[in-house]
Amino acid sequence: MAKHAQSFVCQNCGAAYRRWQGKCDACGEWNTIAEENAAARAPGRPPRKGRLFALEPLAGEAHEAPRLSSGLPELDRVIGGGFVRGSVLLVGGDPGIGKSTLLIEAAAALARAGHRAVYISGEEAVAQVRLRAERLALSEASVELAAETSVEDILATLSDGATPRLVVIDSIQTMWTDAVDSAPGTVTQVRGAAQALIRFAKRSGAAVILVGHVTKEGQIAGPRVIEHMVDAVLSFEGEGSHQFRILRAVKNRFGPTDEIGVFEMTGTGLRQVANPSELFLSDRDLGVPGTAVFAGIEGTRPVLVEIQALVAPSALGTPRRAVVGWDQNRLSMVLAVLEAHCGVRLATHDVYLNVAGGLRIQEPACDLAAAAALVSSLANAPLPADAVYFGEVSLSGAVRPVPHSTARLKEAAKLGFARAIVPEAGREPAADVALALTAVGALTSLVSDIAARGVPPRRAQARMARQDG
Ligand SMILES: [Zn+2]
Repeated sequence: MAKHAQSFVCQNCGAAYRRWQGKCDACGEWNTIAEENAAARAPGRPPRKGRLFALEPLAGEAHEAPRLSSGLPELDRVIGGGFVRGSVLLVGGDPGIGKSTLLIEAAAALARAGHRAVYISGEEAVAQVRLRAERLALSEASVELAAETSVEDILATLSDGATPRLVVIDSIQTMWTDAVDSAPGTVTQVRGAAQALIRFAKRSGAAVILVGHVTKEGQIAGPRVIEHMVDAVLSFEGEGSHQFRILRAVKNRFGPTDEIGVFEMTGTGLRQVANPSELFLSDRDLGVPGTAVFAGIEGTRPVLVEIQALVAPSALGTPRRAVVGWDQNRLSMVLAVLEAHCGVRLATHDVYLNVAGGLRIQEPACDLAAAAALVSSLANAPLPADAVYFGEVSLSGAVRPVPHSTARLKEAAKLGFARAIVPEAGREPAADVALALTAVGALTSLVSDIAARGVPPRRAQARMARQDG
């Protein structure tokens, strides 16, 4: 008797259960568990006998993986210098962020260089892909197009004729394979389709790019499992209201993961941005008191974000404390430390703190940036525009070291910042970071530094009044 092969799989994280339940114990999501048939097809087929293969010694010739330039330097930078033969990349990002545009541009650049590039769209009809190519002025590039979703058909077509150097599958969530019984779009289907495409890449030497959509939590939708199967996971990010896009490697077997590629979305496609700081800094209100740039880490990724603070005299008996994007308790703690150890009087002031761009910061490393923004607003002292801040503040007023300071500093340097205000203790010897570091041991010294730069509002007003008269 064959074992009962039905199982219930969480569509968010891939955890398997014997029976259905409303909430996934593994990831905490509700209503994500669906029934799937995990058994392979053809149950009557006898098990295949293993084939003998030669084992090799550890010593021997080692080849540096040969690279094929994508034709887009910003993309090459992120993947570590170009596509590796037989490698599989997963490119994730929100729908509409420009993944298809990026990849059709890469395919066109490769085709122009005389390589065979194939673009399979499971989302759009060929005519739609053609329209996009026309808009991007890529129509003359000899990219081969198809609108297909059957992995078996795709692999049969790709295996026919010369092996393509690049295959783009847009998207992996639309692909389905006969080898798995589950419904299209389920974790098991996506995993099965990805497995078949990965086998093809390894066998043929073609570089395969899988496009994956991202959930609101920032994970490649559904199959986190395929993140472990591919050689590299790239994430294409940006905000709807901004024109810039950031490509970063979340995982990379053949290169570093701390490189980012920056693009600007224009009417005629993605423009590569060689100097990202211009673009990034163009959105900030420079020279305004109450803003500080925090060099943070989101998951494994460094993210720079602006912390905005407004400290204003309160008309209320109990002054307001409002915070968006950060922990309310954390704010209260920083305010208490400023009062108790730094002589900053806030009891009669309303305090507003906002993390720009709708980001939600979890880490205590934001303490120093928040304190800097608060004091900057109170003292009416703009902070240096080319500085980033990070560090945890303890109840004693000491500035404590935080993890990943090298990654934070590298990201800041990458985005064009020139200096960083960092914790004194545990400072990593970041020799390869081109940033002027100011070490702060106690919050008091930061406060007095900022206060020394500022003009108290009343005196500033008085001065303006004198100038008017
Ligand atoms: Zn789950």
